[in-house]
Amino acid sequence: MIVSYDFGHGTGQDRGASGYRNEEHDCREYGVLVIKKLQALGHICYNCTPPASPALTLGQSLAYRVNKANYYGSQLHICMHVNAYKTDVATGCEVEYASNSGKTYADKVSAEISTALGLTNRGPKNQPGLYVLKYTKMTAILIEPFFCDNKSDCSKYNAEKLATAIVKGITGIDTSVVPKVTPKPAAQIAPKYDESIPQGVYQIPGTKGYIEPRTDGGLGIHLNRGNYIVIGKGFIDAYTNDNNGHGDHKRICG
Ligand SMILES: [Zn+2]
Repeated sequence: MIVSYDFGHGTGQDRGASGYRNEEHDCREYGVLVIKKLQALGHICYNCTPPASPALTLGQSLAYRVNKANYYGSQLHICMHVNAYKTDVATGCEVEYASNSGKTYADKVSAEISTALGLTNRGPKNQPGLYVLKYTKMTAILIEPFFCDNKSDCSKYNAEKLATAIVKGITGIDTSVVPKVTPKPAAQIAPKYDESIPQGVYQIPGTKGYIEPRTDGGLGIHLNRGNYIVIGKGFIDAYTNDNNGHGDHKRICG
């Protein structure tokens, strides 16, 4: 699907929260991983975060995000934040939404974060007044994975685990499971052969081909040293070699 996203705050008068950890830093850290994982799963992702500009007001920062997301016409918009309240008072993860389809995502994403990081699940939270949720035209969620002013929450923060949980909540796919790859057999390199006709063979008149009695009692019928068939008692083997590294052999009969 087409996904648009923004990393919270980080420009002009739109500043993130700070406690034991820093919201602006962390939402960009785990957020980048979320987007990489979604892209690896084939989703098309558009960044709607405004560039850092000292002149930007809070209103302009928010409007930029909404206008870009609506411009791209995505199917899902993801706002990535980190929560804050009062030092060591509030704890846990929550995901905010403003529509029924948003609630479905919010419910799953919050539950996955809670399980993955061992955080209290505050669950989906209806926030119809939040600017980005209110004015984006597509399904939108705003992720608040933990409180940056709660020491215990911060000790549980792990960007990779968090990103994996968010992507699992959105797509149902666990990206921490590495798909099993069956190793391909190493290419067989066929040895080079001498193109001259060996001594002591019966050369077929008018050709470079020959018939060679073999020490194993069989008879080799050769185009040359690399391409021939061997007729034995009860079997026929075929050998091919283009003298350029590619060769094969197989029992064609017997
Ligand atoms: Zn925020």
